[in-house]
Amino acid sequence: MKFTESVFVSMKKERPVIDTHAHLFLSELSAEDYIKNAQAAGLERIVSVATDLKTSAECVRLATHYPIIVATAGIHPCEEGAENTIAALREFVSSHSVVAIGEIGLDGYRSPVPMADQIERFVLQLELAREVGLPVIIHCRKAADPMISVIASFHDVPKVFHCFSEDRQFIDAVSSPETYFSFTGNVTYDNAKNSRHAASIVPFDRIMLETDAPYMTPTRYKGSANESAFLRATADAIAELRRIETDTLIDQTTLNARRFFRLT
Ligand SMILES: [Zn+2]
Repeated sequence: MKFTESVFVSMKKERPVIDTHAHLFLSELSAEDYIKNAQAAGLERIVSVATDLKTSAECVRLATHYPIIVATAGIHPCEEGAENTIAALREFVSSHSVVAIGEIGLDGYRSPVPMADQIERFVLQLELAREVGLPVIIHCRKAADPMISVIASFHDVPKVFHCFSEDRQFIDAVSSPETYFSFTGNVTYDNAKNSRHAASIVPFDRIMLETDAPYMTPTRYKGSANESAFLRATADAIAELRRIETDTLIDQTTLNARRFFRLT
């Protein structure tokens, strides 16, 4: 049988790809529709990333219902709320199945939480990750210097810097064999010079793909809320920046994500 173009396209879509960072609980789509779209686009797994205790529970609930989803638990640097204590997070993590602590980190751009408090909470969550043997997902915005000094004491904790846009100096400062970098749809934006440059230089065995859905919609889908089904547009952009085939990039990022999150 002669393959028509449409058959070829749908075959290509089946190459397994992993969205390492999506906020499913913020999507306007139902979980069923969101996942149906993702599966049609060849998604193998979606890491549903929490930002506080309430969304940690929501991520775990989704992961329990849908095999394509895995959950994280953690408290984002921009979250306030008295219930978001590390003691409560520790208790949550000890009784629920999660693949990472996240997203955690430092935000010097829009967080209402004073930096000193953010640092304290970040350190406690890194210590928790070390204690329970989980990797961490890190948010770092306008906080490169404090981030580098905190991370210096945690080179042994596997970590991914998500929506990465820092420079070579930062990469060298935080690098360890267990430090990964993930990129969102903003690598498709002409003006995202830092992210585009970073995506072209981070080590190939430590690069991962993410949507950060519903944010960071790739240019190709401008006007829609981002979703995991759009991840291939980000893969295309990074492959072009690194002058390699998209399939080569997808195969490597899938391997990297399986290794980092210990997915089977
Ligand atoms: Zn996020």
